[in-house]
Amino acid sequence: MTKEVKNFQTETKELLNLVTHSIYTHKEIFLRELISNASDAIDKMRFLSLTNPEILEGDEKFKIELIRDEKKKILTLKDNGIGMNHDDVVSNIGTIAKSGSKAFLSQLKKSKEQSDEVDIIGQFGVGFYSAFMVADKITLITKRYDDENAVKWESKGDGTYTIEPIDRKARGTEIMLHLKKDEDDSNYEFLSEYKLRELVKKYSDYIRYPILTTVEREEPSSTKDGDVEKTKEEITLNSMIPLWKKNKNNIEEKEYNEFYMNKFHDWIEPLKAIHIKAEGNVEYTALIYIPSRAPMDFYSKDFEKGIQLYTKNVFIMDKCKELVPEHFRFIKGLVDSADFSLNISREILQQDRQLQIIAKNIEKRVQKELEKLMNDDRETYSKFFKEFGVIIKAGIYENFGLHKDTLKNLLAFYSTHSDKMTSLEEYASRMPEDQKYIYYVAGENKESSSKLPQMEVLKDKGFEVLFFTDRVDEFAIKTLVEFDGKEFKSVTEEDIDLGENETDKKLLEEKEEENKDLLEKIKEHLGNKISSVRLSKRLKTSAVCLVSGEAGISFEMEKVLSEMPGETPMSGMKAERILEINPDHELFQSLKKISETSPEDLDDFADLLYSQALLIEGFALENPVEFANKMAKLMIKASK
Ligand code: ADP
Repeated sequence: MTKEVKNFQTETKELLNLVTHSIYTHKEIFLRELISNASDAIDKMRFLSLTNPEILEGDEKFKIELIRDEKKKILTLKDNGIGMNHDDVVSNIGTIAKSGSKAFLSQLKKSKEQSDEVDIIGQFGVGFYSAFMVADKITLITKRYDDENAVKWESKGDGTYTIEPIDRKARGTEIMLHLKKDEDDSNYEFLSEYKLRELVKKYSDYIRYPILTTVEREEPSSTKDGDVEKTKEEITLNSMIPLWKKNKNNIEEKEYNEFYMNKFHDWIEPLKAIHIKAEGNVEYTALIYIPSRAPMDFYSKDFEKGIQLYTKNVFIMDKCKELVPEHFRFIKGLVDSADFSLNISREILQQDRQLQIIAKNIEKRVQKELEKLMNDDRETYSKFFKEFGVIIKAGIYENFGLHKDTLKNLLAFYSTHSDKMTSLEEYASRMPEDQKYIYYVAGENKESSSKLPQMEVLKDKGFEVLFFTDRVDEFAIKTLVEFDGKEFKSVTEEDIDLGENETDKKLLEEKEEENKDLLEKIKEHLGNKISSVRLSKRLKTSAVCLVSGEAGISFEMEKVLSEMPGETPMSGMKAERILEINPDHELFQSLKKISETSPEDLDDFADLLYSQALLIEGFALENPVEFANKMAKLMIKASK
């Protein structure tokens, strides 16, 4: 095959353009990215060679070399990992093949509009391409261990690249960065021993393969006094001790965080690091992280949960999903246990008892740490919950509520009580004697929910109300049914027991009896749009509201279900609608008057009342034009 000139995929071009022209201050991260790619490539080779040592062909000392050519201003990264063949190079280096690429690019576009392009580089690392921040030309030479032919790839990051066969015997990858001249020559610093030493220490210290560079030392001559002799020496820049094997007491938080960011390609420090050393029946070490934010693809179907599996420091599997329960699928980390065999297969893992015990322990520990965080540091916990609360809530109703009893302690909501999020336990402890239920209001956001007419009386009574603003909230609560023996109750549900006294109840009944005809007429006109009309005990300044029946689903659930794709047993389900009218409102007096003086207008009044109630609940009107016309008619009449 001869030399081919190819275009980068459109998305890649876009990304490259961004990277090449960036003035990102942390351009040094390119080294972390390339070293981590080299380390991954060696991991893969090492893993294959465990069962088949002859594929190493004698080249068995795994290493990553940094070769500094100060004259030509070229920094080369060389590894003896798995390498790539022609097709690998085209698909890995010519395109963005990452699962989150779509999300990434949409984020990229968004950030472009806000002109904070630079931060996105840090957030995503952008892998191999980050090297174009410091190089104006990259030459990559690689040979896959099982392929005869080596490949040379070259690009100036300008939209095209060339690819051609080349002669090379050794397996692995060599990446030559032709460093870009910049104003202060800061790119050339990446050729200095000291700079590389500093960067490797900072980002790649725990890489399990030696990162080597050759240095020149001047020593007093052993033969001639006063003379100096130049000697070359290969030095190792990293300590290579896996962090998880170090003594917990000697590890600083910073180290845990650096390791996380390096290993799991995150730019933001994790919320929490959990280091577990278990001894006894099952011995293992685990390093588990709770990230600060969800990765781009977290809520897409491409996301794969799991933590890495090691045995005696040797990597064996990337995303072992058996170790992570669905409701904690945001955790990252690794487990190292001497009890696993190196060539354990995914099928065997599923039935492995050791693994099940470890999984159970990790689950318990994460639960405990989250509870602790909730109690000790509410602010950080709230951050966590905003990012991953949906997963916890879904965990409550998934698996038929199997995990609800533990997960309910991790719930946190905003409430009318304060600006801080509250736990259910705290809510329950604040409930006054005469409050029977845990009240909540479901809606788009706190602001609109707190303006709902149904909230008025609760505010008056001083009853605390939880704000449910996630669509899954009510589904989770319906699974819980109660907390601490107290049932949940939506403020938009009928029969909210507000602890009213007997005389008030009697009075309302009498009023209903008095106005029976009027209420019946309204119901008759509205037909099966509503199940009943009644006078309200919960309204103060508002004239009407809708409440839902106690048995069925709520208004918010109806909205969620109507937006769900596909047919499910719950599709098309509607909440029962009960129209409540405020008997103490002036409008009610007008209604009474109308029914006596011009009964022909009562139907329009009923329609308008019902439409208002729908709008307040956030429902779309079936016929907005008709609503507007009726409104107009009424306004004209009023001005006559
Ligand atoms: P990421 O590492 O996040 O997947 P990169 O753009 O850094 O993204 O790399 C893309 C792919 O190219 C890698 O997933 C890997 O398959 C391949 N690759 C990169 N560097 C090497 C290397 N040194 N040896 C072998 N394969 C590599």
